Amino acid sequence: MIDRIIEYNKSFVESKGYEPYLTSKYPDKKLAILSCMDTRLTELLPAALGLKNGDAKFIKNAGGIVIAPFDSAMRSLIVAIYELGVNEIMVVAHTQCGACHMSYDHFHDAMIARGVAAETLDTIQKCGLDLHHWLEGFKDTPESVRKTVATIKKHPLVPSDIVVRGFIINSETGALEEIHCLT
Ligand code: ZN
Repeated sequence: MIDRIIEYNKSFVESKGYEPYLTSKYPDKKLAILSCMDTRLTELLPAALGLKNGDAKFIKNAGGIVIAPFDSAMRSLIVAIYELGVNEIMVVAHTQCGACHMSYDHFHDAMIARGVAAETLDTIQKCGLDLHHWLEGFKDTPESVRKTVATIKKHPLVPSDIVVRGFIINSETGALEEIHCLT
């Protein structure tokens, strides 16, 4: 698959397919969106929000969540705020999210079946990374959105004037539902 992509890329560049996408690194709408990596959202999310290339910073992971105050998603948001002029953040979860049903027990068994040694998992646990927390999904999507919004809003490095709001987008229709989040 990757070889085919590399081949396609050559013709894309040669035919100047990039021209409609030219923009700067600064998000024109001063907006960052934290969302899920789900493939249904790849084009649907920006289309349903009316966003084009250059409008917003998209930060994506499994579930569209901040799992710890200094994780990779939070780091990207901090960069977006201080380096790229972002002043509004949307946390956008979605319906039928795969991360909703993730269980560490499943990952544990799958990893063992793929050749990861049980003692490797034990060692990681003993080194202080809680694999259960790291790989466990959320049970309640609105609650998960509220939790991530709260972590961002209360973050010691996030200025108080940054707007943070939470949403769930329908994975088929693109309809956006705002989740009421306590401030
Ligand atoms: Zn998802």
